[in-house]
Amino acid sequence: MRTVYLNGDYLPEDEAKVSVFDRGFLMADGVYEVTSVLGGKLIDFDGHLVRLRRSLSELDMQEPAAMGDLLEIHRELVARNEIDEGLIYLQVTRGNPGDRDFHYPPEGTAPTLVVFTQAKPGLAASPLAQRGARVISVPDMRWGRRDIKTVQLLYPSMAKMMAQKAGADDAWLVQDGLVTEGTSNNAYIVKDGRIITRALSNDILHGITRAAVLRFAREAQMEIEERSFTLDEAKDADEAFFTSASGFVTPVVEIDGCKLSGGTPGAVATRLREIYIDESLKRAT
Ligand code: PLP
Repeated sequence: MRTVYLNGDYLPEDEAKVSVFDRGFLMADGVYEVTSVLGGKLIDFDGHLVRLRRSLSELDMQEPAAMGDLLEIHRELVARNEIDEGLIYLQVTRGNPGDRDFHYPPEGTAPTLVVFTQAKPGLAASPLAQRGARVISVPDMRWGRRDIKTVQLLYPSMAKMMAQKAGADDAWLVQDGLVTEGTSNNAYIVKDGRIITRALSNDILHGITRAAVLRFAREAQMEIEERSFTLDEAKDADEAFFTSASGFVTPVVEIDGCKLSGGTPGAVATRLREIYIDESLKRAT
């Protein structure tokens, strides 16, 4: 049975209990991070920690007491659960005020901190990345602070279900004719050798994988344009891909039934995936 971490304790998953009055449960008042594990090591842990601090601060949420121990907690769970390839979820909520109330609980109410692992053998050699993902477009109906990584994941879940129903792998979200991002990833197109992805703002999550991939792409002398692109532009692109901690760089081969790069993963996306995995492994902790 998996061991999880809850508020200072390592527990078997069926013994880890959170209150029914927890703000995460009642108000979706929580933030999270997902760090991938390759070869038993953490990919870009520092980046995830920086974003976690920012999410907490944007919501005036107290840092959990164990903030300084998060790296150790992640490593301990990797060891205890014998994770070679997989994901680690870290969830922080505003805690349990003892009753339901819209107002934030009094200062000093301890946040709830949960960390758990998912074993994902074959994460790096993903069949989806080899085949290329099919995406559909759906309207972006999320709230206005998508830069904060909150646990309000209902609309992304709905969009993933719409994609599944349409026989696709995922959905890209569209606002005012422009692609914002994927349900759980950042979106890119490639046109005439240039990599195009939406600029950072409150409209999208500031992906940790996005930052690393853009850095590696620049180092490899690839040209990058950080600007919004339309859905029509995406359908007419030479290739497309998305990035996330769980999918690394995943080629997209179809948007709303329009085939890209001949329906097979494009050269730029394929190369970026290789570079990203190689470079991340060198820096893994
Ligand atoms: N955009 C959204 C909406 C996400 O949920 C995610 C990851 O879960 C990303 C982008 C990619 O972010 P990261 O590369 O940090 O995983």
